[in-house]
Amino acid sequence: MNSIGGGDPIRSLDPTRARLVQALYDFGPLSRAELARLTGASRSALTAIVQDLIDRRLLAEQPLRPSGPGGGKPSRPLWFSEDAPPLVSAHLLPGRLFAALVGAGGSVIARTARAFDTGTGSRDRALDVLLDALAEMRDSAAAEPMGFGVAVGGMVDTDTGTVVKIALAPELDGMPIGSAIAERFAPDLVCVDMHPRAQALGDRWFGQGRGRSRFASVYTGEALGVGLVIGGDVDRGPSGTGGEAGHSTVQAGGILCHCGRRGCWETIAGHGWLRAEAARRGLPGAATMTAGPLARLAAAGQSGAEGLLEEWSANLALGLANLHQLVAPGLFILHGDVVAGGEDLRRRIERHLCDRIPPHPAGPPAIALTALDDDATLLGAAGLVLSRRLIRS
Ligand SMILES: [Zn+2]
Repeated sequence: MNSIGGGDPIRSLDPTRARLVQALYDFGPLSRAELARLTGASRSALTAIVQDLIDRRLLAEQPLRPSGPGGGKPSRPLWFSEDAPPLVSAHLLPGRLFAALVGAGGSVIARTARAFDTGTGSRDRALDVLLDALAEMRDSAAAEPMGFGVAVGGMVDTDTGTVVKIALAPELDGMPIGSAIAERFAPDLVCVDMHPRAQALGDRWFGQGRGRSRFASVYTGEALGVGLVIGGDVDRGPSGTGGEAGHSTVQAGGILCHCGRRGCWETIAGHGWLRAEAARRGLPGAATMTAGPLARLAAAGQSGAEGLLEEWSANLALGLANLHQLVAPGLFILHGDVVAGGEDLRRRIERHLCDRIPPHPAGPPAIALTALDDDATLLGAAGLVLSRRLIRS
């Protein structure tokens, strides 16, 4: 992660202030009494912190909330101000780019999408497209943004914000995103990280990971990726070295992966495998097969579809079982293509996962389909900045 500049008016590593901000994201609008209870702060300390955050336009008092059925005084809950500095976020994929202006409370204020040519020499053009989209989002902001967050569909040096490796678009390797944004916009903060980790922060700040200190956010589709939240923050290893779960080996000497190695999890649970198997089994639409059509074919009794759905869900579960055995995240939040397979596919993956792990008194891990839809990564890219600006250095 790359931090530029200083003199940040909001940034504070005061632990009480960090707990207060985190409590708001975890539980929604809260009264001063609720915040005092959740942070353990004295009323006087809390009053001073809240007033400071109101003065800085980060928080605002909401309309009076009447006392509930259990009594208590009417209160004005605190929530992020509409005038709070927003966040500029982007998600860079091979040939495609999405960008958004995100409010401090998690609302998408503006968004844009761009396509760019891939192939030899496309790195500079892609960088121009990224900077152009970010400029459009920044210019649509009413206040100076808190910072810029970019999620990349590949490995990133998080210290410098430089792309290390995008397996599906090697022409973008070495793209100096962090320094280019710093040079163009001179923001207080730029954060660049790999897509599954940003997605995990989207879950942590705005999705089913709210209030949880430990879970795994799993991307499925053409590629597979996992972002792990441990101790309330995303785990990334030195300079962002970890996290290529799709290329963890599940089969010694297995199928050749596009990364050049053999037997990666992605080679038996990504779209490449699914489509090859669909073709081998003679399924209609094999060349573009995804979870939704496969689930519909299976439900309609199409010969070969049920078997393929079952085998694919077992292959997806295999990687999750390995993750469980290593770090036991407790909850797996699934994103990407498998969400279109619905509850039936979720249950199949859950059953295969439980078959692959030993029982424990703590109970089995849970599997959930994301409720954030396609915005998880854009929100997570904004979450990269929020984590640095409001919670951790
Ligand atoms: Zn691989």
